Amino acid sequence: MLRLASITKRYQGKTALDRVDLHVRSGDCYGFVGHNGAGKTTALRIALGLVRPGGGTVLVDGFDAARHPREARARQGGLRFGEMERDCLIGHGAAMVIKDKLLDESDGTIQYVCGNPRCGHIAMIDRRGMLRCPVCGENGNIHPIQTSYAFKLLLDELMSLGVVMRLQLEDMK
Ligand SMILES: [Zn+2]
Repeated sequence: MLRLASITKRYQGKTALDRVDLHVRSGDCYGFVGHNGAGKTTALRIALGLVRPGGGTVLVDGFDAARHPREARARQGGLRFGEMERDCLIGHGAAMVIKDKLLDESDGTIQYVCGNPRCGHIAMIDRRGMLRCPVCGENGNIHPIQTSYAFKLLLDELMSLGVVMRLQLEDMK
């Protein structure tokens, strides 16, 4: 049993999920349908415990995913795709499938990148709501770049490990 109760998630002031309720009983099958940015992936990631909701609760077999994350995770049955599974796919010539799934078919998202050729860091929104490079302080040379959502997640993941991610923009060289 999976229950989402009044799940809310906001990204940079935009509401991705607004009080979403969902009750999936054992044996039920649900799918999310919607355009890019509708919040499908966000809802799924919250249900799998990969993203923390801004508000509301996730119950997996009665376990509150925020208070008992291990118990909830052990029961959710979400598919975790590890190195061995990846190696099997590559071994069977399925690298193209992965590229297709993770890149070509992934939702698009816009990243704001500092256009300073010696910089190239991801811009942040400062307190006044202005885009600004957190490293060189540039605010007039920020460029929107279309990337796949999977690539954005990769960037976030590496940046959360303290790895500096710099994107060199071809037009700015
Ligand atoms: Zn910069």
